[in-house]
Amino acid sequence: VPAPAASNLQIDPERLWGDLMETAKIGGTPNGGICRLTLTDLDRQVRDWFCREAKALGCAVTIDDMGAIYARREGQRRDVPPIAMGSHLDTQPSGGKFDGALGVLAALEALRTLHRAGYETFAPIEVINWTNEEGARFAPAMLASGVFGGVFERDWAAARQDRAGVVFGDALEEIGYRGPAKCGDRHPLSAFFELHIEQGPYLEAEGRDIGAVTGIQAIRWYEVTVVGNETHAGTTPMPRRKDALVAASRIVARIDALAREYAPLAVGTVGWLEVRPNSPNVVPGQVTFTVDLRHPDETVVEAMETELRRALYGIADEGLRVEMKPIWHQPPVVFDKTCVAAVRAAARACGLTSRDIISGAGHDAAYVSRVTSTAMIFVPCRDGLSHNEAEFTSKEQCAAGAQVLLQAVLAFDRELAARQR
Ligand SMILES: [Zn+2]
Repeated sequence: VPAPAASNLQIDPERLWGDLMETAKIGGTPNGGICRLTLTDLDRQVRDWFCREAKALGCAVTIDDMGAIYARREGQRRDVPPIAMGSHLDTQPSGGKFDGALGVLAALEALRTLHRAGYETFAPIEVINWTNEEGARFAPAMLASGVFGGVFERDWAAARQDRAGVVFGDALEEIGYRGPAKCGDRHPLSAFFELHIEQGPYLEAEGRDIGAVTGIQAIRWYEVTVVGNETHAGTTPMPRRKDALVAASRIVARIDALAREYAPLAVGTVGWLEVRPNSPNVVPGQVTFTVDLRHPDETVVEAMETELRRALYGIADEGLRVEMKPIWHQPPVVFDKTCVAAVRAAARACGLTSRDIISGAGHDAAYVSRVTSTAMIFVPCRDGLSHNEAEFTSKEQCAAGAQVLLQAVLAFDRELAARQR
């Protein structure tokens, strides 16, 4: 039997959809979403499922000390680093069925397609499930891929605690997924491809099937604390007040306006806020909140930061104390030209429409791109909705993404073979 041509390899849309729906039951919510926080028993269950499926395809499955899972299918050359695909199986507390899961399960389906066809790649192919992408239980997000990419220090990452004080490393041990290998050590990759739902509105609005992701926008997070005067709500006349919440609310509104001034690509969000003492009859004395500023161009984010500081000085001038602490900074990510070209070409070869796009969200691919050639593939999601139980991408759209993922990996594999021969 002659080996099948790469272009004839077709992923099975039904099988992929079946996997998505089957694993969605692990942590499935009544409203059709998933609550599968990282390193919980539900996470263990979906990991067990993934390992079982990968082993059934003859893959060697290894786990590192951050709990990242690697399912490897050998190619012609064992000495060439694997071409990897993957994403994450953890979700937000009220997450959808597709964020993360699509990237892992489509990669598994691509591997299955190679396996069933008996297709021999040049490089080994690997499917990766990264731990704690969401950051919903342990901060920061993208913890395992961050260690893999050399962004986070291993011991620091393992010592992260959730709100109940549970240590990341202990939780990993508890579910039986603390592997012996040191995350990122002696694990070179030839490339990394991540399929993900767009989590934004552009592809759907323009009727495109595929987004060839060229990079990820710059992200800056801050923690702002405003300190006023905690006083009696009934007896403190208005002119004598230093209400920290009133001041903070002006900053919240200013951030919203600021992002609109840098339209259409800038976004600014206050998503978390804590009021003290948070009592109905006490003038709020202290408010702490987070600020999330993003734009593809770093200089725009810098300009927004300057404007934000100016607004905070205004609050300080009114006699309140203000502190702003940078807590996360991700410079813009530019993906590898060869990998992005492979995605564009794969979409074309599959007869799908595509456009270049910049990711608004952070992804594991951002950190992995620091150590290997990387690109991402986006598929549309309904109304651009994500981190929501109603998140939806159709069977056909999922299949299109998986098919482009497979063909992009095979194109990269052919190029690698041509380069090394
Ligand atoms: Zn995700």
